[in-house]
Amino acid sequence: MARIGFIGLGNMGLPMAANLVKAGHSVTGFDLNTNALTALAQAGGQAAGSAAEAVEGAEVVITMLPAGEHVRQVYLNQGGLIDVTKGRKPLLIDCSTIDVDSARTVEAEASRAGLSMLDAPVSGGTAGAQNATLTFMVGGSDQAFARGKPILEAMGRNIFHAGGPGAGQAVKICNNMMLAINMVGVAEGFILAEKLGLDWQKLHAICATATSNSWALSSYCPAPGTVPTAPSSRDYAPGFMAQLMLKDVKLSQAAAEAAGSPTPLAAQAMSFYQAVCDAGDGAKDFSVVFRWLAGQGR
Ligand code: NAD
Repeated sequence: MARIGFIGLGNMGLPMAANLVKAGHSVTGFDLNTNALTALAQAGGQAAGSAAEAVEGAEVVITMLPAGEHVRQVYLNQGGLIDVTKGRKPLLIDCSTIDVDSARTVEAEASRAGLSMLDAPVSGGTAGAQNATLTFMVGGSDQAFARGKPILEAMGRNIFHAGGPGAGQAVKICNNMMLAINMVGVAEGFILAEKLGLDWQKLHAICATATSNSWALSSYCPAPGTVPTAPSSRDYAPGFMAQLMLKDVKLSQAAAEAAGSPTPLAAQAMSFYQAVCDAGDGAKDFSVVFRWLAGQGR
């Protein structure tokens, strides 16, 4: 069993760290939010006073932070994780969803310091994090992947090696771009259904077995009350915050522009998530786009 330093104990990081503890690993964590540290201690981990303290003596370092700027700050700053761990050579695993450039920059810096690093963003939401059923899409060398896989298996069910450094992030932004568009599509369907006098439960039951089915429809339906465990049934408490989805679609749009790839629906979806955030709902689950769209109707 490994000694693991875990930085970023938010909606995803905390249940992931708790699953590592359940699997018998020794987990020391750090987050800027002290409530998260208390929760980690309750789950059987140890709370540290700083990121550097959390990774002291760690064989594996895992980060689960909001965006590229946080990941660069935590790894690259003087006294950052690369600086403080380079003598001991732990495996570094960043599970955050960030831009491919930041992932490759941090990995290159780690490699210069003699450290192995994986970008290992996840899919499956907070339920997947709690139930250890996440999908990991991993970028990095074959050797680093072989070292990281048994650790990731304590937090997820499907662990894919997507390619070299940054490949995990590239898969992730394509996945989330498709999800962002899909969620808007499901929202439009359920809003129209209501206007046509249909019952949402019946529509849900039928479409979940028909060609419009998707994860956004069957497991995460944005129409309140159709799926009891979905964020829509708890006033859109996250889940996956709209501001994080907006970040991800901005990342995929930037990548699409750089690659010359056409993404007109993603551009439209991005403007909707931007409007949701501008309306003050950025900290709600991204499926709240349903409520925003419904408010645009006559
Ligand atoms: P979150 O905001 O709930 O958690 C991030 C945590 O990082 C917070 O607790 C914050 O205090 C902490 N943090 C920020 N800067 C820090 C620093 N310098 N040092 C220590 N801690 C710091 O976000 P989340 O929902 O857990 O998402 C984390 C990442 O996972 C994001 O990149 C997101 O896009 C991705 N993701 C989220 C979901 C989801 O359903 N929530 C699903 C897949 C991927």
